Amino acid sequence: MVKLPKALEKVIPPLHQWHGPKTSELLRTPGKFGLGQVPERYEPDATTNVVCGFCSTGCGLNIHLKEGKAISLTPSTDYPVNLGMACPKGWEALTPLVTSDRLTRPMNRKQRGGELEPVSWDSAMKSFSSNFKKIQQEHGDDSVAFISTGQIVTEEMAFLGALAKFGMGIRHGDGNTRQCMATSVVAYKQSFGFDAPPYTYQDFEESDVIVLIGSNLCIAHPIMWQRIERNKHNPEIIVVDPRKTETAVAATQHYPILPKSDLYFLYGLARVLIENGWVDEKWISGHTNDYDAFVRHAQTFTDDQVEQHSGITSEQMQKLAETIHRGERVSFWWTMGVNQSHEGVRTAQAIINLALMTGNIGRPGTGANSITGQCNAMGSRLFSNTTNMLGGHDFANPEHRAKVAKILGIDEERIPTELGMAYDQIVEAIHAGKIKGLWVLATNGSHSWIHQERYKEAMEKLDYLVVQDMYSTTETAQQADLILPAAGWAEKDGVFINSERRIGLVKKVAQAPGEALSDFNIFKLVSHYWGCSDMFNKWSSPEAAFNLLTELSRDQPCDFSGVNGYCMVDDLGGIQWPCRSSDVAGLTRDNQRRLFSDGEFYHADTKAKFIFDTPREVAEPTSKEYPFVLLTGRGTSAQWHTETRTKKSAILRKLCPSTIYIEIHPDDAKRLNIAPNSLITVKSRRATIEVTASITPSVSPGQLFMPMHYAKANQLTQASFDPHSRQPSYKFCAVEIVA
Ligand code: SF4
Repeated sequence: MVKLPKALEKVIPPLHQWHGPKTSELLRTPGKFGLGQVPERYEPDATTNVVCGFCSTGCGLNIHLKEGKAISLTPSTDYPVNLGMACPKGWEALTPLVTSDRLTRPMNRKQRGGELEPVSWDSAMKSFSSNFKKIQQEHGDDSVAFISTGQIVTEEMAFLGALAKFGMGIRHGDGNTRQCMATSVVAYKQSFGFDAPPYTYQDFEESDVIVLIGSNLCIAHPIMWQRIERNKHNPEIIVVDPRKTETAVAATQHYPILPKSDLYFLYGLARVLIENGWVDEKWISGHTNDYDAFVRHAQTFTDDQVEQHSGITSEQMQKLAETIHRGERVSFWWTMGVNQSHEGVRTAQAIINLALMTGNIGRPGTGANSITGQCNAMGSRLFSNTTNMLGGHDFANPEHRAKVAKILGIDEERIPTELGMAYDQIVEAIHAGKIKGLWVLATNGSHSWIHQERYKEAMEKLDYLVVQDMYSTTETAQQADLILPAAGWAEKDGVFINSERRIGLVKKVAQAPGEALSDFNIFKLVSHYWGCSDMFNKWSSPEAAFNLLTELSRDQPCDFSGVNGYCMVDDLGGIQWPCRSSDVAGLTRDNQRRLFSDGEFYHADTKAKFIFDTPREVAEPTSKEYPFVLLTGRGTSAQWHTETRTKKSAILRKLCPSTIYIEIHPDDAKRLNIAPNSLITVKSRRATIEVTASITPSVSPGQLFMPMHYAKANQLTQASFDPHSRQPSYKFCAVEIVA
């Protein structure tokens, strides 16, 4: 057994302050402890349910233990999300925990360009505190920032947000969730009054018309697709996507709109519905605002204009509108094809408008439903203290500030009165020399950020870069001055919130290697060495933090103050918010709840808003020099984002191409004399790369598709952003194929 560093022992609260075993035992006894309350929680050869740590579907996985250690898993048959199913990533979820490049000790670089060397936690924490404090003292609180993730548990996100912004005085922090979900957050807030995806997965099975926009569900969310497969209503499945994706092939109708013509297409569809009287006037007048203005706006999107911009004819549009009209339960779903756009917020709201005008919301099988990406993007949206204050509160609202300060037991003066910078603004502030210290957690921006080279250059410009991760081998970690070894999924306790707002439990069923600590315990260490640990006495364990979160949620739309601890979450197979005390009676494991069944939204007058805008030109249109549109997206269901974890699995590696490829239409390939599987050179204004040509009609002529998982992809992408959400527009840039 590894002996805990002395410095760590110093910050372990006395046993009576913990709700469970001593930290040293909790950290060092594999599989024995988890919930922090019952030291002998598991029988040595028990099976226990844990929510998957990859995507936002939030499947339940039964972890099988032998002599207290997780040795294998099977999908949970009684978890209400996945009903016995899992995708390849879920089946292989334990594999990335046991790899040779796991970080086992803090690593420090004495000087830029020097080697990373193992150091003690005491030394690492002293370096962390002294370097960040020095920067803050010399350049002000605006000169340091953090970039976090949608991959850690909610308690850790909240702890980081509170520690950084209330304890350490760090003004600016954001998450990699900005790359996937910011658009939906802003769209819902403006339209509904709160960031509230309204659906439950049962809606996939209840709809008779399912409209998927910018979503390759078969690949990106395969278990959600399985829920559609269980639909007994023989639904029309409509896919709106420039590519003939796996999902488009399986659909009953496919509308291959031209890339980023979504607003023309959706406003044109709204006009056809209006012209035919296929709208629910009574519902609209009782539950919405600004419909008349929206009608006037939609009427300007003529058939010719829509066809010219989107490539969809008036006959096709008529057929689609009629299908929606005939549906009794129509659900509209979107994900990254919409969110990662130069006008993503208005596109998401154009989808919301369709649901509102046809009265398809609040009933089984309906809804304007954004599908999230990462396993805990929804936790981040509510509790990371970045895009809003803990629990969906407003930094600028004095009542909210007082409430949060009271629950956390901190001085209200510690709470900033405004949001910090967004991710892209942090990167640019580094380039401008304003931000000089950065703390990056469980994300790999030097691979995943749009226009990757500019991000890498920003990291090199920093005076001090700390990376907190499971591995030292990510591109960002390789640039760090200090790397802190973090426990991974299933090596710690906490909750994720999935796409349908279900709070699900992650448990410690495996031992983190060496001296790696849970992010939660790293934050405890940081607070101690920073000298602000007194502010965080209430954060004594993950479950104590969870209880703070339930209090913070009280009286918010996301109120889950009726949830009484981890055991209740475990017993009920996860719990969807809201869950007030009044909601608890009769709650069963298979409960399904959706929002807005009463037709009341979260704006002060309880009405939803029709929001719309004039379509904007993309930032980098094609040209004679760069005639192809480059689309990016998920490649296979065996790959997860930058493949930091999935490429550790030999099985998952066999399920996807090992090197980067680009999809090109046969006509273009023929014209350019490109042979199947040949190496071709693709050039954008930012980089030139070599890739393997995959000749396929899944892309249209003039378009190319490249999976986002390979590091080279974001060498090409162009850094443009939605102006409302500041989400990067990964789905469109101009490139050429060099002969
Ligand atoms: Fe895990 Fe998502 Fe796969 Fe389910 S669909 S097993 S949550 S990666």
